[in-house]
Amino acid sequence: MHLGTAGGASNAVERAREIGAGTLQIFSSSPRMWRAPKVDPKQCQRMRALRAKHGVGPLVIHASYLVNVCSQTEEIRTKSVHAFRGEIERALALGAEYLVLHPGSWKGMTRGEGLKLAAESIGKALDGLPWQGTPFSILIENTAGAECSLGGNFEQVAELVERLKSHAPVGVCLDTCHTHVSGYDIVSVEGFAETMSKVAATTGFDAVRVWHCNDAKAARGTKLDRHEHIGQGTIGIEPFRWLVNDPRFEHCAFIAETPVDEPGDEERNVRVLKSLVKAPRA
Ligand SMILES: [Zn+2]
Ligand SMILES: [Zn+2]
Repeated sequence: MHLGTAGGASNAVERAREIGAGTLQIFSSSPRMWRAPKVDPKQCQRMRALRAKHGVGPLVIHASYLVNVCSQTEEIRTKSVHAFRGEIERALALGAEYLVLHPGSWKGMTRGEGLKLAAESIGKALDGLPWQGTPFSILIENTAGAECSLGGNFEQVAELVERLKSHAPVGVCLDTCHTHVSGYDIVSVEGFAETMSKVAATTGFDAVRVWHCNDAKAARGTKLDRHEHIGQGTIGIEPFRWLVNDPRFEHCAFIAETPVDEPGDEERNVRVLKSLVKAPRA
């Protein structure tokens, strides 16, 4: 579950345990502010200790929404590189396995230029940071497919990963809501199979490390990114059952970023997702 960090990042681990979640995602700073304080070393220690004690992992950090590594504006790009470098530093300090990034908007340029800038900016942000020998990876998330947003289909995510993989630790995060509203069919049995064969042909299954499990409020192909509770939206419950039991994604973390409309919603969505998992065959 994506969880809040009121009172310190490590509190989210206790919250995960309370609601029965085995893995969690957090923001390591306010996702709508450029300024981000360094994380308190005590929080980092406590995060590691609590995760070890409760066996919670992987820890996923979602990067700030302000970061646009392929902005046409040099000022925004420079700010984005700086902010994303801070994200990586905090992720390493907290011992996070994954840092999820939206590849950004190339508005005002061509997609090819955007792709080149995104790869360059991510490289700059990582430059000289001690990620080698850690389990840390940056995960490029597929987006809802809004105009000029990079990563609106699997090919674009794969292209960026391809450009980065020789010099950066990089993988993929796929979001069910984004996949659905960007136009892929994951709802019908045949559609799901076909969409997964597209994953195979682009990013491949191994590169996918996290699935964001979100139902959608909007119809397939609308490009409207509005998350809904698992099983209550336009995706429905079955595709989530197929996904969490799919042996091709056995190595993945499944994380809900579902809305909190009422107290208990986090716990309910975790319970629904867990209820779909079939007992392993003897
Ligand atoms: Zn995201
Ligand atoms: Zn997501």
